[in-house]
Amino acid sequence: MHVVVNAAMSLDGKLATRSREPVPISGEADFDRVDALRSEADVVVVGIGTVLADDPSLTVGDRGRIDGRRAADRPPHPARAVVDSRARTPVDAAVLDGEAASYVLASEAAPQSRIDRLEARGATVVVAGEDRVDLPAAFAALATHGIDRAMVEGGGELLYSVFDVGLADVVSVYVGSVILGGRDAPTLADGVGFDGDFPRLTLESVERIDDGVLLEYTLGEPSVAG
Ligand code: NAP
Repeated sequence: MHVVVNAAMSLDGKLATRSREPVPISGEADFDRVDALRSEADVVVVGIGTVLADDPSLTVGDRGRIDGRRAADRPPHPARAVVDSRARTPVDAAVLDGEAASYVLASEAAPQSRIDRLEARGATVVVAGEDRVDLPAAFAALATHGIDRAMVEGGGELLYSVFDVGLADVVSVYVGSVILGGRDAPTLADGVGFDGDFPRLTLESVERIDDGVLLEYTLGEPSVAG
């Protein structure tokens, strides 16, 4: 599966405020870029922390892109997937609003009663991993549902794991001209941190958008010419 990580961070590397309040980090042009990326994906993936903090719907906004997907014989919106070990996704969460297919990627620690409630809301629950979600296994399960292109939007705990298990192929980061601060604010990669074996990336492009900068990377070190 091809996996694109996309996030917007402040100049000091934060995805949100210390109280996990969403803040506009980018502007209209970048929102439109993110909408286009979503429209290319088969699934948009977030962690349960993001669902609980922001309650995003993760659908495509632009009518032309929705029509384009339909014309290509694809569903109007990509599926949504929540990485959620204990199946804590609220049944009234926007990702379960019926606008698109919904997956909850849970672990064996999820109580069956919560799985049943999510399935009753129309979600497909994938169980992978004992205590936490085994991301490679969960993504492999998504692939069996015909999902070839994933866009992972965050937050920082999930993105750390995505880097840790080597799932990301492309990383797009919008760096906005704002400083949020806070040692407890989520960053692009939280988790326990790497002690060595740091993921290395190759910078593919730099572009000014709105009043910030879009950085695009592929995973792996640049190949040495010659
Ligand atoms: P998160 O990354 O959205 O979700 C993390 C949770 O996912 C974990 O606490 C864990 O909870 C669950 N999980 C299950 N298996 C996992 C695994 N293998 N690896 C990692 N996580 C796993 O939460 P967050 O770090 O608190 O980030 C939320 C914040 O990010 C919000 O403030 C949101 O606004 C912000 N955000 C910003 C952007 C942006 O582009 N600026 C994008 C997205 C989110 P369980 O153990 O309970 O399952």
